[in-house]
Amino acid sequence: MTEFTTAEQALQAADVVVLGGGPAGLATARLLHQRGITPRVLERDAGPLARSQGGSLDLGEQGGQLALREMGLGARFDELARPLGQRLCLMDPDGTVRIDVDEAAGESRPEIDRVQLRQLLIDSLPPETITWGAEVVDVTPLAGDRHRVGLADGTHLDADLVIAADGIRSPARALVTAAQPAYSGITFIHGDLRDRRRGSFVERHTGEGILHAVGDNKAILAQRAADRSVRVYFAVRIAEDPTRVQGERFGDSAAVREQLRKTFAGWSADLLDVLDEIDGDFAYWPLYGMPAHQLWLPHSGLTLLGDAAHVMPPFGGEGVNMALPDAVELVHALFSPEHSTVDEAIAVFERRMLDRMADVVLAADAAGELLLSPAGTAPLLAHFAAAR
Ligand SMILES: Cc1cc2nc3c(=O)[nH]c(=O)nc-3n(C[C@H](O)[C@H](O)[C@H](O)COP(=O)(O)OP(=O)(O)OC[C@H]3O[C@@H](n4cnc5c(N)ncnc54)[C@H](O)[C@@H]3O)c2cc1C
Repeated sequence: MTEFTTAEQALQAADVVVLGGGPAGLATARLLHQRGITPRVLERDAGPLARSQGGSLDLGEQGGQLALREMGLGARFDELARPLGQRLCLMDPDGTVRIDVDEAAGESRPEIDRVQLRQLLIDSLPPETITWGAEVVDVTPLAGDRHRVGLADGTHLDADLVIAADGIRSPARALVTAAQPAYSGITFIHGDLRDRRRGSFVERHTGEGILHAVGDNKAILAQRAADRSVRVYFAVRIAEDPTRVQGERFGDSAAVREQLRKTFAGWSADLLDVLDEIDGDFAYWPLYGMPAHQLWLPHSGLTLLGDAAHVMPPFGGEGVNMALPDAVELVHALFSPEHSTVDEAIAVFERRMLDRMADVVLAADAAGELLLSPAGTAPLLAHFAAAR
């Protein structure tokens, strides 16, 4: 049996499998590939555009942006990023504008559509790295710290190292922790305004950035995308619907419009006109979060990162700003000469990630409480005043 003296040497001889081809999984693959290791990425989607890839993400200078620069992808990000996406309009339910600023305070956080970020990462890898249409259904420990990854088509593959970046429902999580994502109590119902709706009330107030109309424990949030469409989220505190899954299209748009008109009764007619302006289906997006403090059990040959480790409601805008640095820190640890085994490197990475995660998860929860408050815009206005 070969003896290795560093984690890197062991890794060079290992079968590395990454679960999930989202930002975290693809970033990990990119960083490994830059260091001469090409892992196999298993992605459930049939292809890059198999389903709607979500709205836009803001990447912080010290979070997602720094990580992309580390991957040698900073220049491409700069071409795609939209600094004007930081514009914010905050509104009361009667349509009164309370804040209209071109740039939020603090670090630069330009926007990029999730679909563009994912494509940028896909383009940075040899095409054969990603196996599309590969849905992981289970991960089982084998002898020698290896794991068997079972796929929905009945096949499997065995790996020396499994890096689980397969998001909220990761089948690998149970091998690492008993913690589970819990429903936050808040659901987004979202739809899109296409280009022909230019000039409507919501489109105008969204501008190049975002509109937050908030009041009475609910909100209408709108965000510009790179293709000029506007994604509109109706954020409501409702019970989880066990018959639907996250991302599911409702189909019956008329019924959704009617329900949302009732839920937002009393709000400005200008704002509610957006319900008729949305083209196509509405989608169901309940928000989940992992606990800020998690106990991870001893494990070997396996780790979790990104949303698989710490999914959180998107109010702090930190999901991807955690996920990309996770990938950087994991790969740095794996290639650090200080670590003599892969498990030792992983343990160091996990300790740092779990430490980093706790405050971010708590901040995301707090941001949700500010945005969906019984006191409407008042808590947000106080928050912005204090931050100035
Ligand atoms: C479709 C989609 C849309 C999103 N839209 C937004 C948004 O608009 N705004 C926002 O702030 N955040 C959004 N997010 C979440 C955001 O992308 C993440 O918080 C962040 O990027 C962390 O990335 P991640 O790679 O850890 O997880 P994710 O982005 O969730 O990526 C996980 C990947 O794993 C794949 N996967 C899941 N289960 C399996 C399985 N069993 N087998 C194989 N592959 C699997 C998924 O298809 C996905 O590609 C979205 C996530 C998804 C999946």
